[in-house]
Amino acid sequence: IYESIANITNMFVGALFIPLLMAIMIGFLMVHLLTRPITELAEQTEQITKGNYSIKNSIKSKDEIGILATQINDLSDTIASETATSNMESDRLNSLLSNMTDGVLAITRDGTITVINQAALDLLHIPRTDKAVGKNISDLLKLVDKKITLRKLFQSIRGFVVEPDGPDGVTLNVVASLVRRQSGFISGAVVVLRDVTRQLKLENDQKNFVSNVSHELRTPLTSVNSYIETLQEGALTQKKIAREFLGVAHDETQRMIHMINDLLELSRMDQGRTKMDTEAVNFTKFINYVLDRFDVMFKQGHSMHSDNHYKIIRNYDQKKSCYVEIDSDKFMQVVDNVINNAINYSPDGGNIEIGINETDDSIILSIKDHGLGIPKKDLENVFTRFYRVDKSRARKQGGTGLGLAISKEVVEALHGKIRVESTVNVGTTFFISLPKVDTSSSRFDFS
Ligand code: ADP
Repeated sequence: IYESIANITNMFVGALFIPLLMAIMIGFLMVHLLTRPITELAEQTEQITKGNYSIKNSIKSKDEIGILATQINDLSDTIASETATSNMESDRLNSLLSNMTDGVLAITRDGTITVINQAALDLLHIPRTDKAVGKNISDLLKLVDKKITLRKLFQSIRGFVVEPDGPDGVTLNVVASLVRRQSGFISGAVVVLRDVTRQLKLENDQKNFVSNVSHELRTPLTSVNSYIETLQEGALTQKKIAREFLGVAHDETQRMIHMINDLLELSRMDQGRTKMDTEAVNFTKFINYVLDRFDVMFKQGHSMHSDNHYKIIRNYDQKKSCYVEIDSDKFMQVVDNVINNAINYSPDGGNIEIGINETDDSIILSIKDHGLGIPKKDLENVFTRFYRVDKSRARKQGGTGLGLAISKEVVEALHGKIRVESTVNVGTTFFISLPKVDTSSSRFDFS
């Protein structure tokens, strides 16, 4: 009986524990089978969060987890392609911003700078982006000093002109365009800085030019007019006076024609319409030719101050050839003009010394007089249109104030440079340098 009871107990224990063990094993198996794909998906989503879209899950089952797994793979692909597109857009925007010549800043609605491009850094003389980002645009552009509030800046269509601190004294035009969210809320603005220094200078030059031309033409016209009026009022009958008045009127008219021709020449040059007929010329021979004409003129006493003695001294080796590429007619006008100035502004006569010097790559012509000289403050302006140190003297000598401006344009069109050194009552020297031409090949000799 006891044996049977033990057998039955064993059978019960076996029947109870074996299925329990099996149930536990099956349970473990099921849990493992269920959690493995979920763990894999969790790892994949973690990688996606970190920006790694190349990892794909390998779950192939057809159940809900399988569907979820396929959708996460698709989601990863979509995010990868969207991110690539957005990176490309941002690269394009960055390269656009950094290649723009205008300065661009993005600011929040309270004026804090969030983005600044290289051009803006350069224009504002800021060494690095981090020196600007986070700062307020009002402080950076000193808008408060000009009484420009952010509201005014946001509302202005044409913007404002500011002059930021800096060594080169640039003038900037600041224009803001608002950035609005879909709801209409203004989240900030994009501010564009444009360098308008040159434009303002041009506008100013243009205004001065018009006023100068009007003034220059009005003066001779008024004088001609008054002479004609006097003649009409009876002076015509007095032959001597009439002849004198007509002579003055003729001189003034000549001067106006001269000035208008000069102006037309300058305007042609400004528009790039002047054709330079350049050829390689033996410069020494060319200068000899120009100076010979002056020698003849002095001998015949045709100079402005014919009673004074002028002499041209050739301080260069007249036999030594050197070649430059010039438009002979136009360059002759330049040399004529500078020598005529040397004569005109040396009322007591004297020597005019001409030199030709060579450097490695250029030929330098110097024209030195011992005349009135030019005050230091006027030196840099003598090449400016209509600039004359002594207006009444220059006018008396028939000067238009355009000769040196034209000379400068011609010399620069020939890739050369013109400059002046002068001391008052000692004299003036003009230096004209031209690029040297290779003399190894056969060249045209000026004669
Ligand atoms: P202008 O027709 O008045 O001579 P330019 O353009 O040739 O005009 O010269 C401009 C000004 O430069 C002159 O009015 C004169 O004041 C000054 N200038 C030019 N050359 C000389 C010189 N050799 N000596 C002194 N002043 C000069």
